[in-house]
Amino acid sequence: MTNKYMYFIANWKMFGGLKSINSLHKVVKFFKNFKKNKSIKIIYCPPSTLIRPMSKKLVNSKIEVGAQNCHEHETFGAFTGSINSMMLRSVGAKYIILGHSENRQSGETDKLINLKIKSALKSGLKVIFCIGETLKEKRKKITKQVLNKQINLGLNKINNKNNVIVAYEPVWSIGTGLIPKNNELYEIINFIKKKTKKNKILYGGSVNAKNIEQLKSINNLDGYLIGGASQDPKKFIDIIKKTYN
Ligand code: PEP
Repeated sequence: MTNKYMYFIANWKMFGGLKSINSLHKVVKFFKNFKKNKSIKIIYCPPSTLIRPMSKKLVNSKIEVGAQNCHEHETFGAFTGSINSMMLRSVGAKYIILGHSENRQSGETDKLINLKIKSALKSGLKVIFCIGETLKEKRKKITKQVLNKQINLGLNKINNKNNVIVAYEPVWSIGTGLIPKNNELYEIINFIKKKTKKNKILYGGSVNAKNIEQLKSINNLDGYLIGGASQDPKKFIDIIKKTYN
């Protein structure tokens, strides 16, 4: 059982329509009655199309809403198909996931992520900055070098790091059912904590109601970024409950 302030961030990826928002009443009810609710923060990051209706649904629930990515341009512009951070903020997002490996894999560079982080912070969003090594990099034993570079470039010239939460998400762990060994994860989280000084550090990658029993014993973590399991309210609630059992 943990006594720390913990984040539970739901990344819905490109899943969910208007109907999926209805299922959130279960999470709202659970959170309202949960004894530890003052020491946890729940943030839902749905696709952009659901930010507005979800924010309305969650009003007064103390559950917040975030976005999953944005264009780096800070103001309106001729960028067909894109949405910037200011627009996301204006429809109710308070957080934003940036640097997710699924976007890095489709060509997002550290430099571009840095521009996006700067624009998001300017718009008043809190940033969930994702970093992580691939399986190949892990096998080559260069995880720390990779993370070091991602942090240096991603957070380059960013002053208000207080509004940046770092999510360590090993690429080989996302959606695979695999998680790092406790000692490895503890060491990496410490490494990131030392490097970023003040930041909260989360773990993401295949978190579920079973492996949370193992993950919760890693006491330098400040919470979890949860993909697949967050789309099912029961599984998501189970993860939170078991963190405090
Ligand atoms: C993610 O995509 O951020 C993630 C952690 O996914 P999953 O939990 O499905 O591995």
